[in-house]
Amino acid sequence: MELKQVVFKELRFEHKAALLWADQAKERAYCPYSGFYVGACLIGLDGGLVSGANFESASYGLTVCAERCAVFNANIIGMRQFQGVAIIARGKSFDTKEVTGPCGACRQILYEVSQLSGRDLDIVLSTTQKDKIIVTSINELLPLGFGPLDPNVNLEEWKKSDLNINFEAWKK
Ligand SMILES: [Zn+2]
Repeated sequence: MELKQVVFKELRFEHKAALLWADQAKERAYCPYSGFYVGACLIGLDGGLVSGANFESASYGLTVCAERCAVFNANIIGMRQFQGVAIIARGKSFDTKEVTGPCGACRQILYEVSQLSGRDLDIVLSTTQKDKIIVTSINELLPLGFGPLDPNVNLEEWKKSDLNINFEAWKK
């Protein structure tokens, strides 16, 4: 599979902005075990940005990747629909020479988000020094994926998250 390589200055504005946010987010990674810092930044349908970084655990398996962290961060502030995501990583003492793609688990969650968004998701991947950048999409990275539309789940009511808090109940 030949993926499209581009240079930073030729990226669309939203892709540049998301990559810069992801680049900063990666410095927030909690990664004492892998020493691998990853940042991800989702781009909302209106261009709004929400980032995430990997958070590891001494039990290893409970580690949450930057991409899923960004999805969960976005959800809690009311965002569930996106046009794309940027991902960038670095080692503790080395820069990546190849782009870092989302792991299998994150591809699945990004596929979920893509169906919630009603569109394919752009995926912008960059090396630490931005000397190699690839723009691809979730449909390209997870062909024939399984998503909520396969079992005919009606996503309409889940596309937006309205706060439904009964403030009166808290006054008692
Ligand atoms: Zn992952």
